[in-house]
Amino acid sequence: MALVVQKFGGTSVADAERIRAVADHVARSRRQGQQVVVVVSAMGKETDELIHLAGQVSQTRPGREMDMLLTAGERKAMALLCMALHDLGVPADSFTGSQAGIITDTFHERAKILEIKADRLRECLAADKVPVVAGFQGVSTERDVTTLGRGGSDTTAVALAAALNADAMEKYSDVPGVFSADPRLVPGARRLPHVSYDEMLEIAATGSGVIAFRAVEFARNHSVPMHVRSSFTWEPGTWIREEDPTMEQPIISAVTHDTSEAKVTVAGVPDQPGIAARLFRSLADKSVNLDMIVQNVSLHGTTDISFTVPKSDLDIALEVCRSHADEIAADDVLADSQIAKVSLVGAGMKTNPGVGARMFETLADAGINIEMISTSPIRITCVVRAEQVELAVQVLHRAFELEG
Ligand code: ASP
Ligand code: MG
Repeated sequence: MALVVQKFGGTSVADAERIRAVADHVARSRRQGQQVVVVVSAMGKETDELIHLAGQVSQTRPGREMDMLLTAGERKAMALLCMALHDLGVPADSFTGSQAGIITDTFHERAKILEIKADRLRECLAADKVPVVAGFQGVSTERDVTTLGRGGSDTTAVALAAALNADAMEKYSDVPGVFSADPRLVPGARRLPHVSYDEMLEIAATGSGVIAFRAVEFARNHSVPMHVRSSFTWEPGTWIREEDPTMEQPIISAVTHDTSEAKVTVAGVPDQPGIAARLFRSLADKSVNLDMIVQNVSLHGTTDISFTVPKSDLDIALEVCRSHADEIAADDVLADSQIAKVSLVGAGMKTNPGVGARMFETLADAGINIEMISTSPIRITCVVRAEQVELAVQVLHRAFELEG
C-alpha cells in the first residue's frame, strides 16, 4: 500500500470549513487505498498573530518561550483536524513534534532536525489510524520545545516522509503547482508537470516562494519525491523528483524574478590580495546574507566590487562597507535598492550552448539594460532595473516559448 505524507499549509486549514475539506480529502485518500500521515501548519495567519502578541508583552522575546508560544498554533490545527476526521469515521491521533519523535538541536526559533524516532507514528499507522503531526516543531536534545524557523512545516513533512520511507510528500496550499513564470505577471504561464530537485532549488532560490529551499534540499538529499498541489481544487500539481536520465531535459523550465534585493557597490578599491577577504569577512561576521558578487577588472590598480543583499540587510551592509572604506582606501560606497533579478532555470542548459546569448539579446531588444550577470550550470541571472522586471519576465517567457 502506498504511504504518503500530506502537508497542509496555513490557508488550507484557515477555518472550520477548510479543515473539514482537508478531512474529506484525507478520508478520500484512504478510500483510494493510501496510507496517510498528515502534517499541519497553524491556521491562517496565526503564527504572525502570535509573534505580534509576543511583541506586545516583551521587547526581548526569549527564544525558549517564543517556541513554546508558536508551537501552540500547530497544536490547535492538528487537534481540530483529528476531530473532523473522527466525525467522518476516520480514526486519527494528533502528535506534537515531541510526541512524533522529532529530535532537534538546541537553537530556538531555527532548530535543525537531528533525528526522528518515528515508532509512535509507525504504531499509529499499524493500528490503521491517521497520525496528524504538528509541523515546524520538535524537541531538543535538552528536552525543550523548539521550532524549525518560519515555513518549517515543509521540512517536517519531508523529514517524516524520509524517516517513514514514504512514497511521496504531498504539499497542499493555495498554490496549484510550480509555474513557468509568476502567473500574475504572465497570464499564459504554464503549470510544470515535473521539475528536478536541482531545478526546484534554483527556482526557490531565485524568487518562487512555492516551497522552502531547505525542504527541497532535504528532499533531494533523501530522495523524497514531492508533489506540490492545491487544497482548493485538489487537481494534480507539480512533481519534484530526480531527473529522468532517459528523457531529454527541457532547456528552460521557468523564468523567475525577485525584487527583494538591493545592490551595494564599493568603488575604487585597491586591487591587492586580502581586500575582498577583509570586507567579506566583516559582512559575514554581521550575518549579512550575500547573493551575487561581481568584481570588475582593475584599471590603474583599483577596481569596483558590487554585490546584492536582501533589502532587510542593506543598512547593516552599508554600515560595514562604510566603516571599511577608509581602511581599504576605497573611493565610495553606493547603494541601489531599485534593482531586480530575473533568472532562467532549466536542466537542459547544461548541454545547450547559446542560452545566455539568447537571453541577453531578448533583453536588449526590449531595451532592458543588464547590470550584473551570474550563472550556475542550470541557471542564468541578470540584475536589471526594478521597474523593468515585469517586462523582462514577459519577453523572456515568450522568447523561450514557455507558454502552454
Ligand atoms: N506556522 C509556521 C509559519 O507560519 C510554520 C509553517 O507554516 O510552515 O511559519
Ligand atoms: Mg504558515
